[in-house]
Amino acid sequence: HIAEPEPRDIHAIIERFPIASKGGMAVIITLTDITQLKRIQKMRADFVANASHEIRTPLTSIAGLIELLQGPAKDDKEAHPKFLGMMAEQSERMKNLITDLLSLSKIEMNAHTVPTGAVDILRVVKQEKVHFEWAAKQKNVTINIEAADNLPKIRGEENEVKQVLHNLIGNAIKYGNADSEVLVTCRVTSDLPRDPNFVKIKRAMQVTVRDEGEGIPKEHLPRLTERFYRVDSARARKVGGTGLGLAIVKHILQRHRAVMRIESVVGEGSSFHVYLPLNE
Ligand code: ADP
Repeated sequence: HIAEPEPRDIHAIIERFPIASKGGMAVIITLTDITQLKRIQKMRADFVANASHEIRTPLTSIAGLIELLQGPAKDDKEAHPKFLGMMAEQSERMKNLITDLLSLSKIEMNAHTVPTGAVDILRVVKQEKVHFEWAAKQKNVTINIEAADNLPKIRGEENEVKQVLHNLIGNAIKYGNADSEVLVTCRVTSDLPRDPNFVKIKRAMQVTVRDEGEGIPKEHLPRLTERFYRVDSARARKVGGTGLGLAIVKHILQRHRAVMRIESVVGEGSSFHVYLPLNE
């Protein structure tokens, strides 16, 4: 039964039924809807193409700089530190990209195992605040935390939950304005977003990372967690983005049966709300 008229890929096998019926012939027709399979195949191919492109770009620029240093700029001692600096920057970009690709594939491999640890979310938030303090200071950004006392622990893989906060707080600083605030709030809530994951859940830990940045135009919001999707690619690259941060967040949250909602007002800032289910 096909509910909506939309393009589909159907694989059909038509075989002659060995026992012919009287006065005619019988056939068996097997139809298999392979739309989903095709989509996954295409996604995989696109992903490999995108990833290769992303890796090749910095590599090309490093190779170009090496050529310059070996040839035309060989004796231009003043240019050397500049070129070396650019090479360091590009290799850093490649390193980040490969780190992100590896963590993405690791998370995907574990996607179907339910995390079993108990995580003190506030402790993780505080650790990430310390981690980013220096980067925030460079832009005169203040990281503040608001949380109730005695928050319950959440079920999860500590490293992965940490990675979620790392990516969200990192983005808030990267895309936040200078001289602004990044606010992280943690609270227990029963005001849950509508989501199939949450039909049997009554309460969740809501962690919100709010920045005062330029915000994200509405039309980009649904695609933000796609691999290599960027709102402004030139800018995202400049601030050192791999385009994989939110894809990693999405996969970790899926494994944790958690849900993310993004709110953003252009010119004011963005809030990333994460809801981690709490078992009663
Ligand atoms: P990147 O490594 O490029 O930051 P992400 O997957 O973390 O990749 O984010 C995808 C894109 O979403 C970014 O390139 C950026 O355009 C946008 N984005 C993410 N977080 C924010 C934010 N807090 N404010 C504005 N834009 C954001």
